[in-house]
Amino acid sequence: MRYAINNDKQRVEVSESGELALCPCCSKPVKGRRGDHRIHHWYHYEGLSSNCDGWYEPMTEWHLKWQNYFPSQNQEVVITKDGEKHIADIKTSTGVILEFQNSSINSNVIRKREKFYGQKLVWIINALPFKKNLLLEQSVLWSKGDPYVYKWNRPRRSWEVSIRPIFLDFGPDWDELFWVKKGMGTRSLEGIYYNKKKFIERNGGDLI
Ligand SMILES: [Zn+2]
Repeated sequence: MRYAINNDKQRVEVSESGELALCPCCSKPVKGRRGDHRIHHWYHYEGLSSNCDGWYEPMTEWHLKWQNYFPSQNQEVVITKDGEKHIADIKTSTGVILEFQNSSINSNVIRKREKFYGQKLVWIINALPFKKNLLLEQSVLWSKGDPYVYKWNRPRRSWEVSIRPIFLDFGPDWDELFWVKKGMGTRSLEGIYYNKKKFIERNGGDLI
């Protein structure tokens, strides 16, 4: 994680390797790690589990870039529900939860996360790794405003169970996100393009 709690109860980023602070989620001690090629982060060093939040995804450049579009107080927000605690990537001032998913994820975890965060959850998926498997299938009758249909080779099936909004990010060269409307995780993916800058600004962020 990027933020931990220091002795003055402030949310802080890692300033030097080996530095100690407390996990905002489980309150156990965490240690800071930084280096030239590693993304600065706090990690749990006590016990066997690498992180108290089983849904936690290791920090990547992609993840960090998305988090940074939003104000720091909206990043890594601890959510408690029915005695369970998880760290949301972003919780906006209007209560929207944005989850940035870089790696593949199984159906069970998708279901659990969607149930936990509820109807205000929106997924942003790094689609760059599977973009090459998407082939545009457009009918001759297509007109402006119609959804785009892609044939998805080797679809990521686990996403079929998802019932929350999903936006695919095709990387820095794309100004648009693909808002999936139908067929997520299947061989026929349907959706519309949505401006990335607009998406970020509507959620209280800024495309830097
Ligand atoms: Zn923890």
